[in-house]
Amino acid sequence: MRPWNFSAGPSTLPLAVLEQAAAEMTDWNGSGMSVMEMSHRGKHFMQIYTEAEADLRELLHVPEDFAILFMQGGATAENAIIPLNLIGRKPAQKADYVLSGSWSVKSHKEATRYGDIAVAASSGESATVDGAEQQAWTWFPDPATWKIRADASYLHFCSNETIGGVEFTDWPDMAELGAPDVPLVIDASSHFLSRSIDFSRVGLIYAGAQKNAGPAGVTVVIVRRDLIGHALPICPSAFDYTNVAGADSMFNTPPTYAIYIAGLVFKWLKKQGGIAAIEQANIAKARALYDYLDGASLYSNQVQPAVRSRMNVPFLLADESLNATFLAESEQAGLLALKGHKSVGGMRASIYNALPLEGIHALISFMQDFEQRHG
Ligand SMILES: *Cc1c(COP(=O)(O)O)cnc(C)c1O
Repeated sequence: MRPWNFSAGPSTLPLAVLEQAAAEMTDWNGSGMSVMEMSHRGKHFMQIYTEAEADLRELLHVPEDFAILFMQGGATAENAIIPLNLIGRKPAQKADYVLSGSWSVKSHKEATRYGDIAVAASSGESATVDGAEQQAWTWFPDPATWKIRADASYLHFCSNETIGGVEFTDWPDMAELGAPDVPLVIDASSHFLSRSIDFSRVGLIYAGAQKNAGPAGVTVVIVRRDLIGHALPICPSAFDYTNVAGADSMFNTPPTYAIYIAGLVFKWLKKQGGIAAIEQANIAKARALYDYLDGASLYSNQVQPAVRSRMNVPFLLADESLNATFLAESEQAGLLALKGHKSVGGMRASIYNALPLEGIHALISFMQDFEQRHG
């Protein structure tokens, strides 16, 4: 049996997808070629690409007034590509950022190179939330407190902080916040495809594939079409949404193999019953793990309960001196990559779509056993 892989990214993929890719490695569908060897403009790859886009649109119910782009450079490149494309949509060239952890902080820092960038809100300090004291980066700023500039070109936040394990899903209606023309721009890298998306709240949503959607190398950008066409003159042509959307993501050679694998993941998701079904599975997985953590004395999760991530579950051991033993023994038990990010410490279990409930049960039973022996 394969071990359970809790890596935050690149991360576990459905075994059925890997096996299909292996079977098709040297000859895709009777073409006589590996997908890696095909022209991106040939009929074989065009079929792969068209199906991938259509399946993704179907899975997430992406409205027709949104373009789906398959880009390169990861979410990190997108942190520059977004201001380069969107900040010029209003003369003030402003954008507002909500800070809620490592990734949104990085997005904000990169954006400051391209315009008048302000912090709309930050959870970077401890606060009382729902009557309880929360440490920095373990809670999410309430939209009612966001300082939004009505002449900003967009407002950015990260909907799932992969490192801190903070997930924010209560996306506001910007009209109700007095900023009807400040579209939301959302880094959803680490929970993309794990739950449904309300596109009426979205201006642009982006995700590096390697967390939940496929292999590294492709970044999915879903953008409302009216937001395209405002790129700054310094925007590289290959990153100008007008060019990418106008050429169906083939302005230059796209990451063909990564798109192919992501396409297989989309088909796998449809077979599981689509996003509604995978979301239910994710709810059950997260509940099982958090319930266990809350009842255990050796382990604890620090995140404010209302915004605990269903995908990335950081936890601390009450006795930090046991960390190395925990990691060595868990690996031996076939539970891989549980080491927490260095900025948070402790452990982190990333429990993406492709990790089944069985994997959670294996983790919990290891943790129970470990607690009995060391707690
Ligand atoms: C992993 C991650 C990124 C960075 O992705 P790269 O592909 O390495 O650029 C950005 N944002 C979030 C939320 C992530 O999880």
